[in-house]
Amino acid sequence: MPASSPPQRGTVLVADDDPVMRLLMLEMLAQVGLDAIEAADGLEAVELAASRHPDLILMDVDMPRMDGFAACTAIRAAEAAKTGDGVGIPIVMVTGGDDVEAVTHAYEAGATDFVSKPINWPILGHRVLYVLRASDAIARLRIADAHNRAVLAAIPDTFFRMNADGFYLDYEPGHARLRQERNGRGRVAQAASIDRNVVGRHVSDVLPADIAHRMLEQMKTVLATQQVRSVEYETTDCGEVQHFEARLVATSPSQVLGLVRDISERKRAEEQIRRLAYCDSLTGIPNRQAFLETLERELQRSKIGNKKFAVLFMDLDAFKRINDTLGHNAGDALLKMVSERLRDTTRPSDLVSRGDSRGENSTNLARLGGDEFTILIPDLERVEHALNVAHRVKEAMRRPFLIEGNEIFVTASIGISLFPEDGDDCGSLLKYADTAMYHAKNCGKNNAKLYSSSLTMQIMSHVKLEVGLRKALQNDELYLLYQPQRDVASAEIVGVEALVRWRHPERGLVPPTEFIPLAEETGLIVPIGEWVLRTACRQARAWQRLTGRTMRMAVNLSAKQFKDENLSQMVLSALHETGLDPRLLELELTEGTLMDDARATLATLEQLRGIGVYLSIDDFGTGYSSMNYLKRFDVRALKIDRSFICGLPQDSENAAITRAIIAMAHGLKMVVVAEGVETGEQLLLLEEYGCDMVQGYFLGRPSSAEAITDMLGSVTLALPAR
Ligand code: C2E
Ligand code: MG
Ligand code: MG
Repeated sequence: MPASSPPQRGTVLVADDDPVMRLLMLEMLAQVGLDAIEAADGLEAVELAASRHPDLILMDVDMPRMDGFAACTAIRAAEAAKTGDGVGIPIVMVTGGDDVEAVTHAYEAGATDFVSKPINWPILGHRVLYVLRASDAIARLRIADAHNRAVLAAIPDTFFRMNADGFYLDYEPGHARLRQERNGRGRVAQAASIDRNVVGRHVSDVLPADIAHRMLEQMKTVLATQQVRSVEYETTDCGEVQHFEARLVATSPSQVLGLVRDISERKRAEEQIRRLAYCDSLTGIPNRQAFLETLERELQRSKIGNKKFAVLFMDLDAFKRINDTLGHNAGDALLKMVSERLRDTTRPSDLVSRGDSRGENSTNLARLGGDEFTILIPDLERVEHALNVAHRVKEAMRRPFLIEGNEIFVTASIGISLFPEDGDDCGSLLKYADTAMYHAKNCGKNNAKLYSSSLTMQIMSHVKLEVGLRKALQNDELYLLYQPQRDVASAEIVGVEALVRWRHPERGLVPPTEFIPLAEETGLIVPIGEWVLRTACRQARAWQRLTGRTMRMAVNLSAKQFKDENLSQMVLSALHETGLDPRLLELELTEGTLMDDARATLATLEQLRGIGVYLSIDDFGTGYSSMNYLKRFDVRALKIDRSFICGLPQDSENAAITRAIIAMAHGLKMVVVAEGVETGEQLLLLEEYGCDMVQGYFLGRPSSAEAITDMLGSVTLALPAR
């Protein structure tokens, strides 16, 4: 007979009062590799079961002293007392062939299986092996189950089983939750998510609809892919938000095991970290990093939605001065107050131009560092809206700040860049807003300026122009024109003003109003000014030689030149080199130049006077000098700015000013020159007012030296008496 071997050799207790039956059974068991021990009655069977721990018992029903049923019952009772779970050794009862009642009785007594007489001997061994194996499998299952329960009991998570349709099959609240319940927080625990009596209910009856929906979606994926998935969700109860993570894993093609963990603590920690990383610690508003991320999100959103937005870059004017004079504590206090005012001015509802207001916590405002703040204006419909916000911000800053008992006044300069007009990446938009802010500062602070592509072009051409200007001198691209100045009384040309011109190789003629400021900024004005002075002096001397008459040459001096310590040396050497009489050279200064630093000015003027050159005030009336001051400077002439003359004779206000200037200048023994005389009417009026000299298109435009030479040939020249 072929024998299939058991998982391991086992021992069978054979209980039968018939020795022949016992012998046959032993033989059959030996054939399938099982050992056996024998009991002659029920009582002995109970004793051996307890003392020898057999793996299976074959038990006859009819035995003396104690029958099989009683023995079975006794063995089970002993097992229950020992292990408590009522599971134990498999017992196979041997019953009479047609005794159905005995079979029922046997099961009631705790039998595992039965064989009936007459016994089919060839298969008895196999029957026993089968029962042994089955009971072995059950034992292993029980161990696995106990193990699983131990694991589940050890982890804090709530666990559940759910079928493919979303019904709970099982539900076990986790440690954390039980603890909370014990602490009286059970109501909070998961009241809004899962309560205890959920077995048999559908997930959508237990969890809020959107969460249940997500859970079912993930479950489908889990069942289809056999992969672990998780669903994070939050519930709110009595104002307290709790975060959960449910991990779902398929346990069969139609069942999912879910482990639900309370991750509120982790979320709170993450939020804290986020706050630290994204908040400016001084002011509590979002920092640079937060702003950059918001900007990036806004960029993507606007690209998709075809929307516009603006970036405002604000910088306080003279913050450094406040920090330096009042100390860092005051500086910090100011920054805090500034950020509060900004927060009030830039609530999202104020920023969004249309109704779709977004969350209060959106980081539209941020401090980039120092005294730099940025504001993002989403959904921009009109550029004016950005300018309005800038205006509101400026207004908010204008109110004085009370710090440590001091009233502090600050102003802000604001630059604005626009998406998509100015750029389509965050870096550029921020940089351009910054550039525009600098531009605003350069335009006199407390200003708001848009960065526009034209501004870039302006800067680019500025740079190009600067490069060109550096070469202009050596490339002989500069030349002078001369504009005649006429003495009103004698109607004679008594002098000219030298005006520099630049013929750019590509751009053509560049007006001095464009390149002189650039030359001043870059310091190029010093060599250019020197060239102008020498050229003008040489020309004046040439005319003197040519005509035998004297004529005054006026040359413009910029403030930068005036501050140059070599100025008087340079003037002296130009005169010396060309042989021009110093009294024929007149230097034109603006009011600003003189007022800048009165003490240094006086020293320079002293030197120039020592040389013997004349001085006049150019563009008079546009600055803020007082007549008294001018008297101290020993100025020969005032040149009334063109802006006063151009409205004459209709503009009565300017007429009055012109008249007053002439009267005052004469009172101080100064000569008055009117600039920009364009009509005969203006000339008549100025003559009437007693103006000494006139200059303007009516009398002659700035012209080449040759043209002036021709002009001089046809008029008499005379140096008017002072
Ligand atoms: P400015 O010294 O006040 O020169 C007078 C300006 O008025 C000149 O402009 C002249 O062409 C213009 N002008 C004269 N008469 C009339 C008129 O009847 N109507 C009108 N509309 N304009 C008139 P320009 O040559 O363009 O020079 C502008 C400014 O550039 C000058 O103003 C001066 O401040 C500066 N500049 C010119 N050349 C030099 C220079 O060599 N050195 C320095 N530092 N500055 C210079
Ligand atoms: Mg001038
Ligand atoms: Mg002028």
